[in-house]
Amino acid sequence: MKTVTMFGLICALPLMAQNSTFKVTLLGTSGPGLSLDRSEAGTLVQAGSENLLFDCGRGIPERLTQLGLGNINKVFLTHLHSDHTQGLPILWMGSWNGRGTNPLSLFGPAQDTDQPTGTTGLATQLTAAYATNTHIRRDLVEHWAPEGITIAAKDVTEGVVYQNNGVTVTAFLVDHAPVKPALGYRVDFGGRSVVISGDTTASDNLVKFAKGVDLLVHEIWTGAASTDIATSLYHTTPEQAASVFSRAAPKLALLTHFAPMLADVTKNIRSAGYGGPLQMGADLLSVEVGDQLKVNPCSTTATPVASAATSDTYKPAITADGTIIVWGSAFTPEGGNSLRFTRAGTGPGQGAGPGGAGQAATVIDETSNLFFWDKSATQINAALGGKLAAGQWNLVVRNGCGVSSAALGVTIQ
Ligand SMILES: [Zn+2]
Ligand SMILES: [Zn+2]
Repeated sequence: MKTVTMFGLICALPLMAQNSTFKVTLLGTSGPGLSLDRSEAGTLVQAGSENLLFDCGRGIPERLTQLGLGNINKVFLTHLHSDHTQGLPILWMGSWNGRGTNPLSLFGPAQDTDQPTGTTGLATQLTAAYATNTHIRRDLVEHWAPEGITIAAKDVTEGVVYQNNGVTVTAFLVDHAPVKPALGYRVDFGGRSVVISGDTTASDNLVKFAKGVDLLVHEIWTGAASTDIATSLYHTTPEQAASVFSRAAPKLALLTHFAPMLADVTKNIRSAGYGGPLQMGADLLSVEVGDQLKVNPCSTTATPVASAATSDTYKPAITADGTIIVWGSAFTPEGGNSLRFTRAGTGPGQGAGPGGAGQAATVIDETSNLFFWDKSATQINAALGGKLAAGQWNLVVRNGCGVSSAALGVTIQ
């Protein structure tokens, strides 16, 4: 009996250590758009030996590559909007050789009334659209495995859609009308659970499936409802989010799908009455789901990218009147970004802070518990208690993943 137990322990220990991981990584946190700092929709769930991708918008294959997971082959679509699907052909064809003989497994909503296609239709039409590429690489030159370029597509509806290696994925209906059906997903593993909302307005059904969940990854509408009523109606406003989060009571609510780019949306959710745990999302931010939820502002294993400096649309800027515009930066414990002021000057160490030109660098980060949105440098300095001496400063903006902007010249009055 003892021998059996010992044998069992010896076998089980390495497996337990290997299989206990339950981690969610936001691969993309933007709605439709071409920001280089934020990819479109995509969330990675790693549970035990399973790597599952939920949605595949623009930039998601590249984010997976940053994490060394470019050959992922299980994809769940919430709905067929382009910001959730247009990375799919890149993932499908780009990882063909790496995937070997494994097909790309694709789960998603079926075709419905007024919807020209469903998930299997999307797969069929993608296959047809790229038939020339497939023919050449499969039959004529590279001779890559024919199975690897197969899409094993399945239309799914509410209920358990996938079970493997102790992981259960359950689809449920959300309300993204007129996009329908639109799905959210719940992943259960080791007695813990994660819910991904997909795109939806406030949904009672989501609350039902997310009640008491460990982590709720939820979309948020950050635009002005008054100027874009039609779009706001099929997303979740901060006020609706406050209600959904209060009713679902997740251990952590994690915001994603910022469309347009975010303002100080957590404040709106707070003032609408939600006081529970709340976290702003950023690309490559991850959450380890265990006895405690551990938020990592950036995956430590990700290859850094320096895109903000080259993004004309969203790079930080100073307007003519001295206002600092920092898109998507929240300098609160819910943020994870930083502003670094270094003294501008001449000679050795210029702009490098200590030893540069007479004053140490001042860094505003998540520990500062300050929030700046559309504020002038002088206003920021006032919030810092006048820490920055008058004169010229360089300002560098970094997000939690070390994406930095070009240095900006700032004048403190
Ligand atoms: Zn979307
Ligand atoms: Zn959508």
